[in-house]
Amino acid sequence: MPTLGNPTGTIEILKKYNFNFQKRFGQNFLIDSHILEKIIASAEIAKDDCVLEIGPGIGTMTQYLAESAGEVIAVEIDKALIPILEDTLSSYNNVTVINEDILKVDIKKLVEEKNQGRPIKVVANLPYYITTPIIMGLFESHVPLKSITIMVQKEVADRMQVGPGTKDYGALSLAVQYYARPEVVAYVSPSCFIPQPNVGSAVIRLDRYEKPPVEAEDESFLFAIIRAAFNQRRKTLANSLGNAAGLNITRQQVMEVLEELGFNPSVRGEALTLEEFADLSNCLRKKVRYHL
Ligand code: SAM
Repeated sequence: MPTLGNPTGTIEILKKYNFNFQKRFGQNFLIDSHILEKIIASAEIAKDDCVLEIGPGIGTMTQYLAESAGEVIAVEIDKALIPILEDTLSSYNNVTVINEDILKVDIKKLVEEKNQGRPIKVVANLPYYITTPIIMGLFESHVPLKSITIMVQKEVADRMQVGPGTKDYGALSLAVQYYARPEVVAYVSPSCFIPQPNVGSAVIRLDRYEKPPVEAEDESFLFAIIRAAFNQRRKTLANSLGNAAGLNITRQQVMEVLEELGFNPSVRGEALTLEEFADLSNCLRKKVRYHL
């Protein structure tokens, strides 16, 4: 039975180990059992699942995961938390704790070793300061994944699921929606954590597509186009792509492709859907190759 996930159990263990919160590691521990149950239910954790937890903290969610999953791998950067995790997880034999920076872990290799390369689920109350690199790292390094269910800052969850024409729409929305189907499953108030974060939070589930919903002939070129388009968000596409270092495209070439595809020459990146970005990048790629 989980012993954490409530204020009393959490404060007791923090006192026992005289633990000092490290702000630089984004440490906000969950103390609400309803939210924890909601996360486990939304991730649909079952006994045949191998789960990667990023940042187990004192092991609150890890206890819940260990009860429901076949195997749990938890990667925690703060070495002061390791003896605490040994204590709080001592009654589970299906948990491996790794004291490492998640951004330095070869997750693909880890999945190969621990789950024979079969897809895993990622479940985490993420350290907010590295949300984007963690998610993009999981997708771009092609880690075998079923789904990612994570607590993130509310604004970031909103950015992941919106489409064109909203102020939150940007490179993160497009990247996430290229790889996965996003769905916010809960909004979470700061009072559900110790210490309380100064932002609202949300739990979002990202279901990995087997095949992306659009066809990009060159994935890295598509993402280079998307990044350049949103780097200078208020500029027209012709100007932002035509000026972008490293893309090797002229403003004239962008104008020609926009015309071929039937876009207004002064269209901005924020107006294009993922499918339209894929069409644009496929046509531009041909043009660039043609001129090489
Ligand atoms: N899972 C716990 C919970 O829900 O109570 C703690 C979540 S707390 C928001 C984020 C956790 O991620 C902290 O334990 C922090 O030390 C850890 N962390 C921060 N940066 C990390 C990194 N680069 N690699 C692995 N863990 C990290």
